[in-house]
Amino acid sequence: MKNLFGQTFGMLLLGGLCIAGEAPVGYTDTPIITGQKWRVHDADRPQPRVVTPGERFSDMAPPPSDAVVLFDGKDTSKWVNDKGQQAGWKIENGYMEVNGKGSIRTKDEFGDFQLHLEFATPSVVKGSSQERGNSGILIYGRYEVQVLDSYQNRTYADGHLGAIYGQWPPLVNAARKPGDWQTYDIIFEAPRWDESGKLTKPAYVTVILNGVVLHHKKEYLGPSVHHALAKYGRPQPPRGPIVLQDHGNPVRFRNIWIRELGEYDQQ
Ligand code: MG
Repeated sequence: MKNLFGQTFGMLLLGGLCIAGEAPVGYTDTPIITGQKWRVHDADRPQPRVVTPGERFSDMAPPPSDAVVLFDGKDTSKWVNDKGQQAGWKIENGYMEVNGKGSIRTKDEFGDFQLHLEFATPSVVKGSSQERGNSGILIYGRYEVQVLDSYQNRTYADGHLGAIYGQWPPLVNAARKPGDWQTYDIIFEAPRWDESGKLTKPAYVTVILNGVVLHHKKEYLGPSVHHALAKYGRPQPPRGPIVLQDHGNPVRFRNIWIRELGEYDQQ
């Protein structure tokens, strides 16, 4: 998993970087996404409709009894950097903040799960498009749910806040203002392969942002990649760590907990 994490993480980070001074809002030279009529990061794909979320949804939701608390506002002992060392993100006032020391991942691995997480993009707006409040939740280091400051920020549709990056835009844009805390409630099912190495079930994700559904059991076409077609490779175990992306912007996170879904008819 470690090698896999390293490789995938490197690929995503490299892919996410923009040339200094440039803030592209889309591409016209990328491949058509399998089964869709749009290109990867298509400049012409419609912007998701704006929905103003309600004032509160799961803000500061306390963890259920069987949840693993990944971050309680003070303790980052559940997180390590890509070298497996203690995570070095800034911690203050009950949140941790991206500080240029690289992405972090959970020490533990999780199968199909329900994740609650809160984040805030910087209150001082700098940059535009993908350079503005960019981070991400990289499930197993491979499947990204995008974090971005999408408040009055034009970018390619499949790169907006809540996008299944490079594959599916969010159904709507339910971003709160820069600096405001926002809630993610994410349900993820890992992909499965049979013994011959054939994919039998893709990864599925349900994403609720600030109480607004952005995806309902939507399938990943493969691990997230930039400027390229996603496709599944070799079989992987149906569990892995949660990775929070350092994309060079000081995005904050708080109140993170996770619980595995389990099976029906289990005690
Ligand atoms: Mg990102």
